[in-house]
Amino acid sequence: MLPLITELEIRLRVSQIAEAIARDADGRGLVVVAVLKGAFMFLADLLRRLADLGLEPRVDFIRAASYGSGTRSKGQIKISLDCASPVKGRTVLLVDDIVDSGRTLSRLQRHLKAKGAARVQTCVLLDKPSRREVEFQPDYVGFEIPDRFVVGYGMDFDERYRYLPFIGILEETRGERRRRVSLNGALSQVRQPLLEHPKSAPRA
Ligand code: 5GP
Repeated sequence: MLPLITELEIRLRVSQIAEAIARDADGRGLVVVAVLKGAFMFLADLLRRLADLGLEPRVDFIRAASYGSGTRSKGQIKISLDCASPVKGRTVLLVDDIVDSGRTLSRLQRHLKAKGAARVQTCVLLDKPSRREVEFQPDYVGFEIPDRFVVGYGMDFDERYRYLPFIGILEETRGERRRRVSLNGALSQVRQPLLEHPKSAPRA
């Protein structure tokens, strides 16, 4: 696996995003709604930085499932777990790991507005703008990345790699997939058998 964004780069960027969110906060009572499962690590770090800046948001979770083929959400987006917190009249910050086609977040944004939220802002750590299929621009973006399948920092391939503290690209070579594993900054290269291509794997 080739590291794309290091742990330190993520930490610095998450702090900057938290500062921007705190600057824009309107005092209306912020509810942070994170999209399961991929956003869990980003959410935890972001909340700690927001707390450092004096924000005391409520926290809830929502889960979306896409019906259609492949890893990318080509089909219909269904809400498989709705957030339980009241959002009526509140400012909601919808947090996800990555925006790709834009279908998931635009669907969830509409859903939360329909539930009466006064304002629904969106925050993603990663954005693949070249993949957009619907008109959608997140309010807060950590990094714009090219069209590559990434894992780590909450994001999976077939439920693996979510635990990694950095973001890596799953790299395929002939007949095998090489990956680089970074622990305490030390890189060591390991080999593993070729897995199914990410595009054919089910979404988390
Ligand atoms: P969208 O609805 O924007 O097409 O899809 C967003 C979702 O697709 C993300 O929340 C994530 O679950 C999945 N996704 C898109 N690109 C990637 C990627 O490169 N790696 C991983 N692990 N998931 C991705």
